[in-house]
Amino acid sequence: MKICPACYAIFVDNKWTFNEDLRGKAMQKREWERCLCPGCDRVAKGRIDGVVHLKGKFLASHKEEAKNLIRRVAEDKLKKNIAARIAHIEEKNDEIVIETTDRALAERLGKEFGKAYHGSLEIQRQKESAFARVYWRRD
Ligand SMILES: [Zn+2]
Repeated sequence: MKICPACYAIFVDNKWTFNEDLRGKAMQKREWERCLCPGCDRVAKGRIDGVVHLKGKFLASHKEEAKNLIRRVAEDKLKKNIAARIAHIEEKNDEIVIETTDRALAERLGKEFGKAYHGSLEIQRQKESAFARVYWRRD
């Protein structure tokens, strides 16, 4: 069995997944090898497919809520796509910038912010490109 040393995902039945039980058993029996999963591999290589800019006064006064929403969206997406990760988050007073390894994750983050908190949302995507820039703002 392959185990990702960075996030502890396991490769079993031809796909990457999270399963503490199976991972524990494989490690005990030493029947495993280290191998970065596609998500950690993208993070390690610095492959960024989306950047989300969250900005505005509303954000400054709802930081914790916003971070919980980011976490929830990322966890949801990870269940569907092991390669969709948040590579980096930078926080300033009224701004959070999130770099993702997956365009769909960046777009989902923007849409979920729009759904939860309204504000304005703009998604810039180049045709045929895997990269998106997402701007959400509420003052
Ligand atoms: Zn991993």
